Amino acid sequence: MTTQATDGYNLLPFRFARLSGGRAILTNMAGQHLVADRADVDRLANHQIGASQPLYKELKAHHFLYDQASDVALEMLAAEVRTRLAAVKEFTGLHMFVVTLRCDSKCVYCHASHAGHHDGGRDMDANVCEHAVAAMLKTPNPSVKVEFQGGEPLLNFEAIKHIVAETEAKRGDKDVDYIVTTNLYNLTDEHLQFIADHDVGVSTSLDGPADLHNANRPRGAGDAHAKAVRGIEACRDTVGPRGVSALMTTTRQSLSSIPSSFAP
Ligand code: SF4
Repeated sequence: MTTQATDGYNLLPFRFARLSGGRAILTNMAGQHLVADRADVDRLANHQIGASQPLYKELKAHHFLYDQASDVALEMLAAEVRTRLAAVKEFTGLHMFVVTLRCDSKCVYCHASHAGHHDGGRDMDANVCEHAVAAMLKTPNPSVKVEFQGGEPLLNFEAIKHIVAETEAKRGDKDVDYIVTTNLYNLTDEHLQFIADHDVGVSTSLDGPADLHNANRPRGAGDAHAKAVRGIEACRDTVGPRGVSALMTTTRQSLSSIPSSFAP
């Protein structure tokens, strides 16, 4: 509710809702609230609250009205609103794009609802990519991070390329970082070139030595560890050691693989 003053005091913007028992709750953009009789809300709106009444002082203190003696009220209200909404400036910086649900691995701890390598209907198409980028760029945050997830995101490389192209064309003056979370099993020279050209960070998994990694992250050919290590080395060669990071997921089997020199 916003109202211009006719005399005595000005109303500041507020909302209200009816409560039981003839009461109402008033709220405003400064995050203040006040519960009052509905009759008093009507009197407030009709500029019938006298300056000597306790309710007047309460309404004034909570930024529901201001008068000539409180010409700083608007600045105070603005300051409170600025403080309350400060977090919005940093709003939603990380945006995850699950470009496919398909994956060629069967990790024992996978929590993604992944589908088979060649399953159909599990990929983001160009239209969905464009809508997702448009939604992301609506964030007021001047810096965004685009993280490609899956499934195994490199299985839908076309979507990654399209999202990056859309983002670059429409990002305006936003800072944008890209990162792909990948098992690296399908890494190609084309992927590497794209990663280098667009400064895409690489996040992968390496659970330990071959027997442990292959047990945690099995794939048909039994070469998961070899492919992960080869992929990490290729990324390091292409974009430098800072361009790729590898996480270890700890499982029960990991604990039994701790070298005796580290065991308690
Ligand atoms: S690589 Fe990722 S998506 Fe695929 S099975 Fe492993 S944890 Fe799940």
